[in-house]
Amino acid sequence: MFNLLTTLVDNNRIYGKQGKLASYIPSLLEADPEHLGICIVELNSGREFHAGDCDTKFTIQSISKVVSLILALSDNGRENVFKKVNVEPTGMGFNSIINLEVRNKKIPYNPMINAGAIVTTSLIYGQSKEEKFERIIEFLRRATNNQNISINEEVYECEKITGDRNRSLAYFMKSNKVLEGNVEEILDLYFRQCSIEVTARDLARFGAVLANDGLAPWNGQRLMSRDVCRIAKTIMVTCGMYDASGEFAVKVGIPAKSGVGGGILATVPRSYGIGIYGPSLDKKGNSIAGLRLIKDLSDELDLSIF
Ligand code: GLN
Repeated sequence: MFNLLTTLVDNNRIYGKQGKLASYIPSLLEADPEHLGICIVELNSGREFHAGDCDTKFTIQSISKVVSLILALSDNGRENVFKKVNVEPTGMGFNSIINLEVRNKKIPYNPMINAGAIVTTSLIYGQSKEEKFERIIEFLRRATNNQNISINEEVYECEKITGDRNRSLAYFMKSNKVLEGNVEEILDLYFRQCSIEVTARDLARFGAVLANDGLAPWNGQRLMSRDVCRIAKTIMVTCGMYDASGEFAVKVGIPAKSGVGGGILATVPRSYGIGIYGPSLDKKGNSIAGLRLIKDLSDELDLSIF
């Protein structure tokens, strides 16, 4: 496995040159476009395999949408969550606003686009925004078996300053009564969760929890119900890779979620958790070398669930 991962990283690193770093925040531009790393946690043996830049920190960005979905479902139950956010792919970019107006029902299409994640974030329980954030980061610490997970304050400040599109989505949803409560507080929580730093190794462990039906494989602790875990994986398949989710399902065939920090969280039910980092992105916002790497891996190990 180790040799395979090293070969796949070496073969695909070059594709970082063909993409672009996310540029809406200066600190995301500091990443090295040719960084590429992968970590795999094998459920059967509990072993971790890795190659390339798998301990480089990057911000979780949209991958945090999986966490807010899991917490919203655990806190409110699926009926209450899916009254406020749908589960259909959009075929549109992750921060598109158009569907919020043209549909009959004004709720966002799914929890993996920005509008949908702002809604699931608003549903997370807690007495204060600090407590809500603590619950998000604590969930991630447990799901990655890494107590050192923390926020990148510089990215958080920039998310706040540059977050006008997210602000528009949120206030638009407030005007339609989809979003309730203090919009600025909800946005602040969303910006914070996007700014949490992880590594490919952290994502691989999170993927292993999802692969293991919500139980942390290293200590048997249940982090979410089987039902919540199943819903999260299903929506990752249909919507996790933005408007490239269909193509990804055909070519790779496993539940996955990407973020503009360059991360990919992937999970092969009952077999593997996979974490990838490659900050150079394609036009849709997915890691350009990461996509090729995971496609090659899926071909080599016959990972498609279909
Ligand atoms: N912080 C980014 C945003 O809200 C996250 C988007 C992403 O990773 N696709 O726009």
